[in-house]
Amino acid sequence: MAHQLHFLLVPLMSQSHIIPLTDFGNLLARQGAFVSIVTTPLNDVTHKSSIRNHNIQTIPIEFPCREAGLPEGCENLDTVINSPELTRRFFRASQMLEAPLEKLIGELEPKPDCIISTTAVSWIKKPAEKFNIPRYLFETISCFSLLCSHKLSLSSFQEDAVSDSEKFLVPDIPHRIEFTKAQLPKTTSSEDSSGGNNFEEIKDHVKQARDSVKGILVNSFHELEHWYVEGYKRENGKVWCIGPVSLCNTDTSFSGGGKNIINKPSSVDDCLTWLDQMKPNSVIYACFGSLCRISADQIKEIGLGLEASNSPFIWVIRKYDQDSCAAEVEEWLAAEDGGFEERVRGRGVVIRGWAPQVAILSHRSVGGFVTHCGWNSTLEGVCAGVQMVTWPMFAEQFYNEKFIVDVLGIGVRVGVDGCLDYSNNNNNNNNNNNNNMVVTWDRVKNAIKKVMGTESEEEGNIIITKKRREKAEELAKMAREAVEEGGSSFLNVSMFIGDVLHQLQ
Ligand code: UDP
Repeated sequence: MAHQLHFLLVPLMSQSHIIPLTDFGNLLARQGAFVSIVTTPLNDVTHKSSIRNHNIQTIPIEFPCREAGLPEGCENLDTVINSPELTRRFFRASQMLEAPLEKLIGELEPKPDCIISTTAVSWIKKPAEKFNIPRYLFETISCFSLLCSHKLSLSSFQEDAVSDSEKFLVPDIPHRIEFTKAQLPKTTSSEDSSGGNNFEEIKDHVKQARDSVKGILVNSFHELEHWYVEGYKRENGKVWCIGPVSLCNTDTSFSGGGKNIINKPSSVDDCLTWLDQMKPNSVIYACFGSLCRISADQIKEIGLGLEASNSPFIWVIRKYDQDSCAAEVEEWLAAEDGGFEERVRGRGVVIRGWAPQVAILSHRSVGGFVTHCGWNSTLEGVCAGVQMVTWPMFAEQFYNEKFIVDVLGIGVRVGVDGCLDYSNNNNNNNNNNNNNMVVTWDRVKNAIKKVMGTESEEEGNIIITKKRREKAEELAKMAREAVEEGGSSFLNVSMFIGDVLHQLQ
């Protein structure tokens, strides 16, 4: 009987790493492999429902919060991101998983044939070497971002820029992509990282994790960014685009009634039923990922923009956005005499907490997506064939904005000048400084009207919106074809498995 491959998957404990790596685990299991996913007790509870194959097991390891000086329960990056100090401790705790993981690998039956970790899990290198297990990296960002950031790191443009707002071009790429220093995450900015979001530190982890891997898997597809995939391959050797992994799990995608979505609160059920009643492509969906912290002032402007757009909408407000300003936001949302929700009743749905994003985006009624441009969200938007209003906040999100607007041509900028700065906890006290300028409601409204084609009756605008929509639909078709049998990502998964088998010979 053929040997059943055993893959050990080790994500950074952050939604944007756990979700796509679990999707990839589902995909490997469907190909007949056995998959073990390392997790922690709280993350296990949150994510277990997305596992859909008896060939997958999760292995919760205690997250050393106390030892690393973290409050109990801080097992996911989304619980610490607004504090540079807690983020540092979170990465320390993550690093401390090395010893228990080494023990676990030694005891695991059957022994793993291959380890796949996401970036920033640098500590996996030693246990993998100790047990002589081939290790691969799973990239959670695009080849476009990876290559542009590499090209910028080789150039001196950003050092030479006299101000934060001076524009410079990314050299040696086929598209005209301009950045300012203010838009670059601290990973590629030459500035001191001490006041920022620990990106220098994260960058070191990422670099170490990339050292000595047998190959790199990217959650993207060749047709989406072929020039950048080839460029990244030239820099890094074996690279396989195997995505979009969110599409590989057909049973998690929304099929009209939301029946496949497990553990959803009833309000989510309601919202999916509500979507069924809306016209095709008429609804705008607004969500800012798992990590962005949004001030009360900004939350209100977003709401006013959605209201003034006149489009039906679903708007997700993360629980953490509200932590420091919960009462103020809740009062504004839910006041009985003319509060936001009362004013938009019938036309808008507010989800507090977590939304089934892939399901919502892939509903036929959704035509536009206000997004913070995280890579997973970007790719999920591409798969759904929706136009996007781009609202990057930090990390590599400005790269993704440029990719959506300037390369793919399926987005409209809301118009943000630079990365948010969490270092002074400005978002907690709503005392926004220049780095955290509030985007006003009229800009939100105008951008939404452009993507929804309701901007004005002028013929020129209608044609531009129509072109963007056609492009978005074309890309969604290409994404589906990439993961179907014989498609580029489908073949790349086979090539990757072939490479693992070759390493074992
Ligand atoms: N997500 C979701 N529901 C939410 C918010 C986010 O399902 O309410 C998912 C989203 O579909 C994506 C991931 O969380 O898969 C967020 O990853 P992304 O890279 O877009 O952004 P990040 O959270 O890292 O900022």
